[in-house]
Amino acid sequence: MGIHERNCGDKLPLILNNNSVSPHSFQINQPNIIHQPFYTMQKWFIFLGNSLLLKKQGDSYSVPEADETPTPTFEWTTIQELPMLDNMPCKAYSLTTPPRNGLPESFVTVDLRQSYYLLPRAHYYMAAKASELLYWDNGTRYCGVCGAPMKRHTAISKQCTHCGKEVWPQVAPAIIVRIKKAATHDADGNIIEPEKILLVHARNFRHSERMGLVAGFVETGETLEECVVREVHEEVQLDITNIRYFGSQPWPYPCGIMIGFTADYVSGNIHLQEEELSRGSWFSRDKMPEIPDKMSIARQLIDDWLHEPQLAEGDKTATAQS
Ligand SMILES: [Zn+2]
Repeated sequence: MGIHERNCGDKLPLILNNNSVSPHSFQINQPNIIHQPFYTMQKWFIFLGNSLLLKKQGDSYSVPEADETPTPTFEWTTIQELPMLDNMPCKAYSLTTPPRNGLPESFVTVDLRQSYYLLPRAHYYMAAKASELLYWDNGTRYCGVCGAPMKRHTAISKQCTHCGKEVWPQVAPAIIVRIKKAATHDADGNIIEPEKILLVHARNFRHSERMGLVAGFVETGETLEECVVREVHEEVQLDITNIRYFGSQPWPYPCGIMIGFTADYVSGNIHLQEEELSRGSWFSRDKMPEIPDKMSIARQLIDDWLHEPQLAEGDKTATAQS
């Protein structure tokens, strides 16, 4: 199953349930969080739907800082505790509708993805964490075993008020893999075909021209490496080897983590899984199509290959193609 097919729950509804547990029952049993006499100012990660509220001053954007919630909240609004950032406590909450009197002056709404390009990296990742925690909070108001209300136990756990079941935020892991096909040479060692990587276009990519990498959700009971092999076989029917870990990235859309790998092509012709992919082929460095945004690990994997030091073969490539 591909990365774009599955959600780990319903989308955040725009209207919160009035029966939500009041914030007073969400006392967090962490003395170091409750007793904070030394901090008055806090960073506030506020969401309005899928957008983040930022303060705009000239061309610069920042996470609002205030001693109290910068916007009106409802009795049932959950204030989510976050770790410290820049030596300042951080909190998050979600608004279902814009404040009646409008947003505070100089506040703007920014898509969470867009905030990657506007905020310091650590602030974006804290916003991402906030988004995932609010999503989790909204989806775990009642116990999945007995249906009783859940009560906040720690900043990142809840416990059922009736049967005691505990829940923590769940993360949906997905692999993404860059497959490399080695250059081919003639008898004299001249390059016939340069080194290439596989790029595919998923049917639900938001950009029609953009090409990305094979990706998919990890299934229960399989290793990450098994998932890489399975996804590649399902989506393009290629055999690969040399699977190596590249890096990972939280992907708060809504609660994922992308785990990046590199691999080498062994054999097979590309046969696309038609339901998921509309295009897929091998691309050399000098003929790259439109590729994903810089914020994604897909782009980091592709850039890493594009910037690999080229051996003397690089010159031969140019010669062979001229
Ligand atoms: Zn229960």
